[in-house]
Amino acid sequence: MSDSVLISEMTWTDYGKRVEDGKTPVLLPVGALEQHGPHLPMNCDTLIPTAVCERVARETGVLVAPPLEYGYKSQPKSGGGNHFPGTTSLDGETLVLMTRDIIKEFARHGVRQMAVVVGHTENLMFTIEACDLALRELRAQGVHDLRIMHMGYWEFSSEETLRKVFPDGFPSWNLEHAGVMESSVMLHLHPELVQFDKVPLHPPADFPAYDVYPVEPERIPATGALSSGKTATAEKGKYMLDEYVESISAALREEFRL
Ligand code: ZN
Ligand code: MN
Repeated sequence: MSDSVLISEMTWTDYGKRVEDGKTPVLLPVGALEQHGPHLPMNCDTLIPTAVCERVARETGVLVAPPLEYGYKSQPKSGGGNHFPGTTSLDGETLVLMTRDIIKEFARHGVRQMAVVVGHTENLMFTIEACDLALRELRAQGVHDLRIMHMGYWEFSSEETLRKVFPDGFPSWNLEHAGVMESSVMLHLHPELVQFDKVPLHPPADFPAYDVYPVEPERIPATGALSSGKTATAEKGKYMLDEYVESISAALREEFRL
């Protein structure tokens, strides 16, 4: 039997045996294809939660589903906006229905514990809606015992970590788009994908309290980053990633009695 934690690398028979009693949780990373400034690849929001899930799976014995590599439309104040070349997004309805269908399929296999691990802020309400619709439809089919954890991985940074990584003050997770955290984690995971000589040096974006649609690109930093990742290091990235893995593993153990 393969010792991979990735469902996609398993045979159907090995996978079936792992999930048939409903005791093995399945993690679903939900990312995006979105510009991340001039220095980071566009798959950050997929790659980071998928790496977190794989490490969590090796610690806790859960399985990881293939990530969703497209997400909901990038928003100016959390992802720079949807007007950049490369940023490739789904309508909300598409993301809801894709995620709902995937959850229902895992339930059909026997899975009764799942975690949706979001890597892109804009996905959150749509993936929550998918959990709700899947649970409602499964209840109508007589399945009452599926439990789903739903999270954005970045929420697992402790206050202590934020003080350490951002000694001059933590801006906000929204302004961290392509900033210090994502740049650091990418330097740790995939230095070959980071063009650190191109890291933007501009101050954090200054947005009003409201949004205007259609989006006016001139209100958004032209680099696509919402703050500077210039203080990013691979060491900070390892520190933050390790905390995500440890804290999410602990949460899974607690909720699913692993
Ligand atoms: Zn991101
Ligand atoms: Mn994003």
